Amino acid sequence: MSAVRFRPKPLPQQNGALTSSGRRFAWCRRRQFAAPRASRLAPRTVADVLRAIEAAMPLRAGTTTTVDRIIVGNAEVPLTGIITTMFPTMGVLREAVARRANLLVVHEPTFYQASDDVSALDGDPVYAEKRAFIERHGLVIFRNHDRIHACDPDGVRFGIVEALGWGAAFNPTVPRIVDIAPTSLGDIMAMVAQRLDAPNLHYIGDPTMLVRRMHISPGYNSFRSVLPVWREHNPDLLIAGEIFEWEAAEYFRDAVALGHRKAVLFTGHSVSEEPGSAWMATWLKAIAPTTPIHHIPRGEPVARFPSASGR
Ligand SMILES: [Zn+2]
Repeated sequence: MSAVRFRPKPLPQQNGALTSSGRRFAWCRRRQFAAPRASRLAPRTVADVLRAIEAAMPLRAGTTTTVDRIIVGNAEVPLTGIITTMFPTMGVLREAVARRANLLVVHEPTFYQASDDVSALDGDPVYAEKRAFIERHGLVIFRNHDRIHACDPDGVRFGIVEALGWGAAFNPTVPRIVDIAPTSLGDIMAMVAQRLDAPNLHYIGDPTMLVRRMHISPGYNSFRSVLPVWREHNPDLLIAGEIFEWEAAEYFRDAVALGHRKAVLFTGHSVSEEPGSAWMATWLKAIAPTTPIHHIPRGEPVARFPSASGR
């Protein structure tokens, strides 16, 4: 291990001091003022809301394909309420019906694959029953994945940084990297567990290790996507939603075994992106000020055995 190799490169200076909420609001306002006039009127139909989202939260310039679309439902119906969530699980769908909300703005697939391609699900009972539930209750599922990630800054990345209390350290020039005063990995994990209400943290590294520079990358991370950031910025800790056990996790285990002071903390996919989805509910209030809007956390997809509580 060489000290030279792990000397962090200084980050570009931020342009003036930014408060975290000030940054978020500046971005949010700019987008909303760019929205067409009709979107500032109270929306009457689900389609009114979707048109306002599409206008105020555009896709990245030059985008030719997107997973963002109506997944199920007819949008030309009166709007009764809006739910934002990471995944429209059966639990979330039932809760939406109980709250009389007919529009769900979701971040991830309804039908289990990246682009909601259902060709392999033809005749599948789980798919058929879920789809029938959505249609029977007149729900409209709108996928908002690429739009929120196309925001500047990325609404999901900034969501987790702010939820963890590091919004003031957010550097829009290098949004993946956050520098903090030296803090032990153990203290960071305790804080992440508490602030993100994360029941199932996994980590690689020494809890007494001091962390100064973090790579924050909510959602799924491939080894190929992580490595260039580590080469360029040399962080101590990756905070991610999920990484594959058979690739990036083994790289970090080897790094630790070879004596490098490196660590990874993975929170679970939803937990890491949930703050962005919660923020989406707040953002929508400007578009639909008189409509009931709620965020419903999707929760952990897997149970632990033995459970943490010993039950
Ligand atoms: Zn995402």
